[in-house]
Amino acid sequence: MSHEFPTATINGYPRIGRRRELKRAVEAYWDGTTDAPELHRVATQLRLDTYRHLVRRGLGPHDSSIPATFSYYDQVLDTAVALGAVPERFSDLFDDGTLGLDAYFTLARGDSKRAPLEMTKWFDSNYHYLVPEIGPATPFRLANRWIEDTFVEALESGFTTRPVLIGPVTFLLLSKACSSAPEGFDPLERLDDLLPLYGELLERLKTAGAQWVQLEEPALTADQRISPEELATVTTSVYTRLAACQQRPKLLVTTSYGSLGPLLPALAGTAIDALHLDIFKGGLPSTDDLAELGETVLVAGLVDGHNVWKADLSLGARRLARLEAVTRNLSVSTSTSLQHVPHDVEDESGLPPRLRTWLAFADQKVDETLTLARLVGNPHAIDQEINESDRILGERSTADGVRRTDVRARIAALAPADFTRSPYPLRQLVQTKALRLPLLPTTTIGSFPQTPAVRSARARVKNGRIALSAYTAIMKEEIRSVIELQDNLGLDVLVHGEPERNDMVQYFAENLDGFAVTEYGWVQSYGSRCTRPSILWGDVHRPTPITVEWTQYAQSLSTKPVKGMLTGPVTILAWSFVRDDQSLDETARQVALALRDEIADLEDVGTPIIQVDEPALRELLPLREVDRAEYLDWSVKAFRLATSGAGDRTQIHTHLCYSEFGQIIGAIDALDADVTSIEAARSRMEVVADLAAHGYGRGVGPGVYDIHSPRIPEAEEIASLLETAVQNLPERQLWVNPDCGLKTRGYAETTASLANLVEAVSQIRERMGASV
Ligand code: GLN
Ligand code: ZN
Repeated sequence: MSHEFPTATINGYPRIGRRRELKRAVEAYWDGTTDAPELHRVATQLRLDTYRHLVRRGLGPHDSSIPATFSYYDQVLDTAVALGAVPERFSDLFDDGTLGLDAYFTLARGDSKRAPLEMTKWFDSNYHYLVPEIGPATPFRLANRWIEDTFVEALESGFTTRPVLIGPVTFLLLSKACSSAPEGFDPLERLDDLLPLYGELLERLKTAGAQWVQLEEPALTADQRISPEELATVTTSVYTRLAACQQRPKLLVTTSYGSLGPLLPALAGTAIDALHLDIFKGGLPSTDDLAELGETVLVAGLVDGHNVWKADLSLGARRLARLEAVTRNLSVSTSTSLQHVPHDVEDESGLPPRLRTWLAFADQKVDETLTLARLVGNPHAIDQEINESDRILGERSTADGVRRTDVRARIAALAPADFTRSPYPLRQLVQTKALRLPLLPTTTIGSFPQTPAVRSARARVKNGRIALSAYTAIMKEEIRSVIELQDNLGLDVLVHGEPERNDMVQYFAENLDGFAVTEYGWVQSYGSRCTRPSILWGDVHRPTPITVEWTQYAQSLSTKPVKGMLTGPVTILAWSFVRDDQSLDETARQVALALRDEIADLEDVGTPIIQVDEPALRELLPLREVDRAEYLDWSVKAFRLATSGAGDRTQIHTHLCYSEFGQIIGAIDALDADVTSIEAARSRMEVVADLAAHGYGRGVGPGVYDIHSPRIPEAEEIASLLETAVQNLPERQLWVNPDCGLKTRGYAETTASLANLVEAVSQIRERMGASV
């Protein structure tokens, strides 16, 4: 058996199943409708089917080219559980030193007694991982055998897979200090305690028969809380020590999501056996840096694992030739795990046939990787494929709808005035008069609970089982009842509730030219949650008004102002697969213009307030500090382009999710929205103090309760959060609303929570009235 690294591999494969089988099985297990053996059976079958499938596509069954990237929930949690690295509040989950499946899910989801591990964004993807919590005394011990069991299971079925773990540097950098840790403690301080466990795990895998192990170190491609020099020292030391382990499989270190920069020589100089670089995103490293690799295999991440476009094989071949000239051992892979893309373009019979030829999902990317790998040592091996790739790219660049002269002429004619509204004090005066709102106006973020009836009506109209008129009647009835509910609760600014939207991005994608929507294009967002990103392939244009009819109808039902609800350009980009043939900046402007037209139409029917949600603004922030200013510049401009056509009288709101705003507070201010609602309840209104310190002078609605849990907040609790807010910002600036949309909640808790919110505000208003 050869221990050479295979010439073609992938970093990882989607693990939810082609028809989301794992999601269904896991959720059924949580509901108690199936048992552990059944879940285990589905998972085993999914893993083995995946290996078989990959071998059928051309990966070798015995050469370690198939990475074992299955996970029941999250890969970071898998590593935390393997290392027993769980915070004290979960210590009773160990059963005889072991963490089993129920313990695993409890860490992920919490239970009645305790909060789950926090969840946060995985690099620049839309995947979310669980954040390990580590303190000075968190005990580490190998707490289960899943990794080697999975390897053995595959081996017994005829596949020599490559086990995958999060590498120690990334694992500790992604961890946070547990709540009992002393001020200033950094999980990295525990490196020396952790490394022996990695050593032991490697030994176990070696004993089980593994030839190669993949240690993932994506954190090395992003700026971290320690300096690049410190990071280089830590990295060198870790991999020198791991490479020195006597009993171990060969080590592949992967570094997806960007370039390693100065860390490349640091890693290349160690005795690891193979190093993966993200060439697609990070570009070609310098010849000098590559020379450091010596005999170490360079696993070149040439095929984009992150987006859905067919590879430019000419470009791939040129890059490969450059790498081949300066490295001794070369292999081809994807830039990242393919977990970020759907399974197979062939499933999408509903997509326009022409668009389908431009796309590559996970299976097509496996093919592309194998194709490029044939070039190694054989410069003309894929001439025909390169010609075909050039032909398709050529076709794509000139196809109808990819570049529209009308859209481009409008963009070219934009002037600075198109990005600017009149000064805020002026707008404020006009709006105050027009809206006549009480102090601390109450509102919600947009969506109301999506009942099974609403979901089913949407599904039925899509399948043609009910007529559009019947569907419209059902939606209108829903809107009517949501308006009535809000009127009864005594909210000040109402919403129509968004019942017609399956998803805040897909809804707009379905109604704009330049986008396509898939049928099976699910990707994992977190745990069992999947999203189906739209594909933005051409110039964006709005053929007809999108939201006007619903908004107008909602407003006709109440004398209170009803907000028009739009999704902002940055969020539309962030949650779609975006074209790769022009800058994000340019694409964002096109989307912004479409929204600008929608806002104009909403104003024409008298919509007094229009909210343009940008929950993903923080999310797209680049991993490297040096890239951030440019991003914030174009993203703010896109929002302003969308909203600056609004008259002074129209109050523009925006909504942002996630509470870490420190780094982008200047950008939030620069959006120049009249009112900004922000997630704040879980961080106890921290953002209000930050905004005050920044001198933020416009309206702000810090969320007063967390909508991610069914818990109903007491009026006193909300009032106390509001008191905190009022101490930091003048009450004239403050709005009162939940943290986010209510779509995932039920009506019972929504009604009770909003009643308490209104009650809390009336208490505060009374107190304030008394003190004047
Ligand atoms: N208006 C959207 C809603 O309420 C906003 C959702 C979000 O911020 N993610 O559902
Ligand atoms: Zn939100």
